[in-house]
Amino acid sequence: MPGRVLDSVAEQPDRRLIEGLNTRFIGHNIFHYPTIPSTQDVAMQAARAGAFEGAVVTADEQTSGRGRLQRSWLSPKDGSLSVSVILRPSARELARLFMVAALAAARSIEKATGLQTELKWPNDVLIDKRKVCGILIENELRGSAVSWAVVGIGININLDTSEHPEIAGMATSLSAETGRRVSRSEMLKCLLEELEAVYLASRGGAPVHQEWRARLVTLGTRVRANTGDSIETGCAESVDEDGALLLRRDDGSLVRIVAGDVTLRA
Ligand code: ATP
Repeated sequence: MPGRVLDSVAEQPDRRLIEGLNTRFIGHNIFHYPTIPSTQDVAMQAARAGAFEGAVVTADEQTSGRGRLQRSWLSPKDGSLSVSVILRPSARELARLFMVAALAAARSIEKATGLQTELKWPNDVLIDKRKVCGILIENELRGSAVSWAVVGIGININLDTSEHPEIAGMATSLSAETGRRVSRSEMLKCLLEELEAVYLASRGGAPVHQEWRARLVTLGTRVRANTGDSIETGCAESVDEDGALLLRRDDGSLVRIVAGDVTLRA
């Protein structure tokens, strides 16, 4: 039975973490680890082995947390929330997943803490220009069909960024911004509920890109986009319905930059 796959790899499955969770399928199958190299790796392994859509892997600590482009994501013990959610979207839905995940993360942080968030294109969540949440989406295709996608979300909860010089200047945490400890389980519950709500709305045809776009602080600013093949500089003018960034170069021409392995700097 596909739902059992995670049991064989989880050290301490703990379903109590999300008691009271009000979702149809996300988080009904949750596997929690005290320490793990990467929730994303375990979730991808489970997805390949046939885990149900909505199965979730979480950890108190990741020892090799990953961001995009194999960058490291710092998630020390009890300071952060590390969540990987297995989804089985259509190809159309996969293309919108980065907006769905960013919107859900922003909304859930606001709901759980009352803080105001901003989005940096395409899907970093910031508070007062500092990064509080990173998102990594990985997927596998079979031909043109999507086998699975894993949405990885890391949120700095009770993290003292000053203890981590590598991110101290550009990161923040919910406890630093609220001045109090924030409940990780409450944040997880909010996050999974919002993720499902936005995912289902998007699947039903709701224009999630509109709210996502309205939250982007990148628009109207001068940016440098490294696509791996080229570097483009100019003004981040707008985004289209697919979430691609329309960048106005200094010579007046417009270039469309698709969210993916792009690094954007102010
Ligand atoms: P960037 O935020 O540099 O534009 P990105 O969006 O391409 O990066 P992500 O995959 O979201 O990258 O995150 C990886 C980057 O985030 C790392 O390169 C590091 O600079 C930074 N980082 C690592 N751990 C944390 C953390 N706990 N909080 C905030 N930022 C972090």
